[in-house]
Amino acid sequence: EVVEMGWNLDNSYSTLPKIFFSKININKVKSPKLIIFNNPLAKYLGLNSDSLKSYDGVSILAGNKTIKEGAFIAQAYAGHQFGHFTMLGDGRALLIGEQITPLGERYDIQLKGSGRTPYSRGGDGRAALGPMLREYIISEAMYGLGIPTTRSLAIVKTGESVIRETRKEGAILTRIASSHIRFGTFQYASRFGSTKQLKELADYSLKRHFPNIKDDENKYINFLNEVIKFHANLVSKWQTVGFIHGVMNTDNMTISGETIDYGPCAFMDNYNPNTVFSSIDTYGRYAFKNQPIMAQWNLCRFAETLLPLLHENEKDAIEIAQDAISNFNNLYYLNWLSKMRSKLGIFKEEAQDKTIIEDLLSMMEKYNEDYTNTFIALTFNKNNGKGMFSSTEFYNWYKVWQERLKRQSQSNKLVHQLMKESNPAVIPRNHRVEEAIEAANRGNFDIMRKLLDAISRPYEHSEYQEKYSNPPKPSNCPYRTFCG
Ligand code: AMP
Ligand code: MG
Ligand code: MG
Repeated sequence: EVVEMGWNLDNSYSTLPKIFFSKININKVKSPKLIIFNNPLAKYLGLNSDSLKSYDGVSILAGNKTIKEGAFIAQAYAGHQFGHFTMLGDGRALLIGEQITPLGERYDIQLKGSGRTPYSRGGDGRAALGPMLREYIISEAMYGLGIPTTRSLAIVKTGESVIRETRKEGAILTRIASSHIRFGTFQYASRFGSTKQLKELADYSLKRHFPNIKDDENKYINFLNEVIKFHANLVSKWQTVGFIHGVMNTDNMTISGETIDYGPCAFMDNYNPNTVFSSIDTYGRYAFKNQPIMAQWNLCRFAETLLPLLHENEKDAIEIAQDAISNFNNLYYLNWLSKMRSKLGIFKEEAQDKTIIEDLLSMMEKYNEDYTNTFIALTFNKNNGKGMFSSTEFYNWYKVWQERLKRQSQSNKLVHQLMKESNPAVIPRNHRVEEAIEAANRGNFDIMRKLLDAISRPYEHSEYQEKYSNPPKPSNCPYRTFCG
């Protein structure tokens, strides 16, 4: 039946030195019930949706049943959490194995919320339904937006309760990632392993994620440069859609450049660079405007772990690492600028573009305008005559922008096309996500399904999606997200 379900598992991670993982005995849950399943993703992975939805399939997704060819390990890692180094590891996740897809790609299949592991510390190893639904929605929204991300295959309710602030329903999320190797995995190797073990992890990562540079003479330097490039691109994508990760700790940064760990993340409604959603981010370390800076800080911690591999002489190694890291700012900025240009329908660069973009952003901040909807209004030329749109500043800015558009050879039609492709009609707004989770907690998954449908194709600009574009009603209580 394992074959019938389409499992085609390998477990290359288990070939790494033993310090990198622990074998896990399964923790059975009481009465697993599948509540949401991602058919297109299953198909992509080569998995058979129908047989995975059967009793035996759900048992696997609940961690109640093992697969002979599987890995069943928890991964070890460390990380800087809000600036402080800590030993961590998968405290509530279990890697079933690596699925080899029909296209020959390799994806980790991980159960999140599957029970205690040697890395659980004080935790219960479990997850509550609400946060798993949240991860499912946001990760699939990110995928729809074209942002590198881990994905969500399924959620199974465990039939057991977990204690958070109150008693909650327990759930397990099946997370799909091109790997779960984190900056923190390297920090762990660097702090607790030998140089040989660090090298094995680096070689493994090169082979898995950067096969075209794995035989380069300066492969470790190139590795660092590639990871820097991936993250400059990733964070520029976050910034252009108004995504706030919320816990950019080094254990939540992947080597693959995929967004991971949807805990207290959220999308910004009105534009304010100081926005923080996370209830645990007391000092605003991971505020919207800080994300590029924190990405670079995280990359520094990653680069430090590679020093022994970059050059035999430490001083030279440090210089190489600093050189590499110093490119981040510019790489990030160029990525960001080019994406923001597209959002305004600008094809080729001109020196003035930066000012046009920055002036718009500061007007949006001053007039408390909705970030996503402002770009939609510009795309469809819908001036509601209110707020920013009624100001002289905006009138003047608009003229400058229109003149800029006229200076390029592309037709209005092409400009409109570029803007439609670059500005999402819908983002998973917090009040919509909450509404979906609340209904799902009451056993109604209809609202969630409709939301998923709307956010899975954000560049379609259909009428159906319009009802998801309303920002929340003004409230005295700022939105806060929690982990868990
Ligand atoms: P996060 O803040 O989600 O990145 O989690 C940080 C660390 O805490 C990771 O090592 C998690 O595996 C661990 N963790 C989070 N929740 C739990 C839990 N309920 N039980 C055990 N470990 C947990
Ligand atoms: Mg994490
Ligand atoms: Mg988390």
